[in-house]
Amino acid sequence: MPPEGFVCKQCGHCCLNLGAYQTCATEEDIALWEENGRDDILNWVVEVAPEVYDIWMHPQTGDYVSRCPWLRKLPRQEKYICRIQALKLEICRDYPVSKEHAEKTGCPGFG
Ligand code: SF4
Ligand code: SF4
Repeated sequence: MPPEGFVCKQCGHCCLNLGAYQTCATEEDIALWEENGRDDILNWVVEVAPEVYDIWMHPQTGDYVSRCPWLRKLPRQEKYICRIQALKLEICRDYPVSKEHAEKTGCPGFG
């Protein structure tokens, strides 16, 4: 859970350029998607070494994408939502871990 005082502004900044934030899924993420039968999510994950899961690789092209495929821009608004909110990555659920982390990575959630 993000710290007290944090309110997500839905600006999408953290999901538009993944390289700077999250590049791996955890074993718990994988288990959650398996339990929920979410092959559509698992198709974007590649196990690069035993128990090391890279995200997100386009299932058709094999290219890594910088914008999260589960990010959706709301129509006529400068706001974004996560299409896998209930099943999003552990690292997404915990982001940002502190006010300092938010400031350092350009998240306006404490502003
Ligand atoms: S950068 Fe911060 S405020 Fe913007 S969507 Fe991500 S968590 Fe929310
Ligand atoms: S899974 Fe959701 S919260 Fe995480 S990077 Fe993608 S759109 Fe953002």
